[in-house]
Amino acid sequence: MHNQQFVESNDELVNFGSPGVQGSKADKLVEACGVFGIFGEECQDVTRLTYYALYALQHRGQEAAGIAVADGQGIKVHKGPGLVSDVFDRQIIASLKGKIAIGHVLYAKEGKTPSMNAEPLLCNYLHGSLAIAHNGCFTNAKELKSKLAGKGSVFQAGIDSELLANLLAHYNGQGIVGALQKAMQEIIGSYALVIMTDRELIGVRDPYGNRPLCIGKLGDAYLLSSESCAFEVLGAELVRDVEPGEIVLINEKGLHSFHCDNHVERALCVFEFIYFARPDSDIDRINVMEARRAMGRQLAKEKPVDVDLVIPVPDSGIAGGLGYAEGINCVFEMGLIKNRYIARTFIRPEQSEREIGVRLKLNPVTKLVKGKKVGIVDDSIVRGTTSKKIVQMLRNSGAKEVHMLITSPPVIAPCYYGIDTSERNQLIAGQKSLEEIREYIGADSLSYLSLEGLFHALGQRGGFCAACLNDQYPIDIPSDRKEEAKEEKKCRAQQD
Ligand code: SF4
Repeated sequence: MHNQQFVESNDELVNFGSPGVQGSKADKLVEACGVFGIFGEECQDVTRLTYYALYALQHRGQEAAGIAVADGQGIKVHKGPGLVSDVFDRQIIASLKGKIAIGHVLYAKEGKTPSMNAEPLLCNYLHGSLAIAHNGCFTNAKELKSKLAGKGSVFQAGIDSELLANLLAHYNGQGIVGALQKAMQEIIGSYALVIMTDRELIGVRDPYGNRPLCIGKLGDAYLLSSESCAFEVLGAELVRDVEPGEIVLINEKGLHSFHCDNHVERALCVFEFIYFARPDSDIDRINVMEARRAMGRQLAKEKPVDVDLVIPVPDSGIAGGLGYAEGINCVFEMGLIKNRYIARTFIRPEQSEREIGVRLKLNPVTKLVKGKKVGIVDDSIVRGTTSKKIVQMLRNSGAKEVHMLITSPPVIAPCYYGIDTSERNQLIAGQKSLEEIREYIGADSLSYLSLEGLFHALGQRGGFCAACLNDQYPIDIPSDRKEEAKEEKKCRAQQD
């Protein structure tokens, strides 16, 4: 394989690839957003419950947060850049009264302003007000936008929710469900939407089921959430997942289910299980913690190594590390300690203080690793910069051997469905062979889980999108990226 195209970056000083330290240059794939909704009763403080739920979903986006509430007179929204704790205080929450609320946490891609793109998006249509919160990406957004602009629509925010609002306005003679069904025929891409009118809460999942969305119940109140961990936090129960292509409408008469006409193969994002989702969430009836542990056990079956102890990269490698240690019957130790108090205001270390910068974020327990053969487990390698640092750190602490164990297949292609991936030329496995990656990160050995092994660990053979792992895109990608993707694929085939 050729490796001249691989673009290294030294941004890992600060972006150590954990949720909470995001940025398009983080050495991880980065989830785009989290959504939540509640149709409550008069006695329930829906804003406060939404606020707590957004805290539980904070790992899905840290650039902006917002809540919209319907009080019977109209919809009020409060949103802004920053963490949920930066955007809301007691007074703001107390000022947002009502019995329907939706919330959103945002990860803004590079070049997008969090304050401009913060959601929920509030708009007026023929029958009143509407607020929309979206997770995902419309891959035909460009085409939809020019079509709607040709019909007189004006766009300000440049986000997919604005496109949807215009589509709904276009079909507003059909009622909200009819308009959504029409819009779903036109939209291509991934989406989990939580929408509210003055009287209803609506949840929509794309026909591929690419983005997760589930339904919960708290007393008589219905809840919608990107992940079920938000229900657990509120003491609510998980009822079920919204089905691919399903629209659920919740009003005073209860929950009503509708479907769109698009019949396509299910393609749930497999990376939810590898890295994005919280381990205490269940997605499409699979528990994330159990899935990650099973991936570790499967890797142990496929690639057992002779080590004295297994260490996870915190926090993303913990569940997989436990599984791997079980699989090879080896000691599991928290041999790397993560500093949880590095905030956004952290003063970036000077180039000369590189080592300090790295160790401030993650530091090995020298007593545990000195003189040992160490198996270090992480969920994925994206650019390799983090893995390289970790291996070096363990060697500096006296580890005799360092074996890198990855509980997912190599990330070889970018995601076009709303996940912030590096460009293809920054994905180390898209550019280098296994041996070249091992050499680059400086490990004694490097092992990845196979794609078949990943599906086996998930207990299902199909129904997943794994495009970033197998370069096969189940949903049409944006037209302006097609040529580039074709060229890159050709290049890759020649290299292989
Ligand atoms: S390409 Fe598919 S599996 Fe990979 S991150 Fe995107 S949606 Fe998830």
